[in-house]
Amino acid sequence: MPEPVSTTAALIGIFKSLRAGVRALRQGNLADEHRAAVDEIADLLTDAQDRLSDLQQVSIELREENAALRKQIVDHDDWQERLSAYDRVTAPGGAVVYQRADTPAGTQPDHYVCPACVERRELQILQDLRVMSGSFECPGCGNKYPVNPRQNPPRRKVVSRGEW
Ligand SMILES: [Zn+2]
Repeated sequence: MPEPVSTTAALIGIFKSLRAGVRALRQGNLADEHRAAVDEIADLLTDAQDRLSDLQQVSIELREENAALRKQIVDHDDWQERLSAYDRVTAPGGAVVYQRADTPAGTQPDHYVCPACVERRELQILQDLRVMSGSFECPGCGNKYPVNPRQNPPRRKVVSRGEW
């Protein structure tokens, strides 16, 4: 594929030469029918130059779009790689969340990740609220998830009234 910039530069050079040729012809002693033909050539040159500048604009836009798409591909690959370190699991409390894929089976992972934020391509570590419900909260979106099993409140001791 020819380099668009050098092709454009070459075309601009050709137009310059053509315009110089037209100017030289106009300065000569032209018969009326020849002058009309030269004027027509000059109009066609103007039209062609306008179209070239439209093409230049399209070329710039396409290159910008191409660069943006390339960046999207790289970002997508980076995200897929980061996410591949995690598995979607059902936590002991029933919530479907993400945990490190390298967590040994049967052990508590060192953290869980918010599934809602994963949809937005963010890895947000759920924070243990240390409440009876076993809820963890996402610092990114504020969602709460039942990660740990619900704990029953400790039984209130029955105050012994003693026997009279
Ligand atoms: Zn979240």
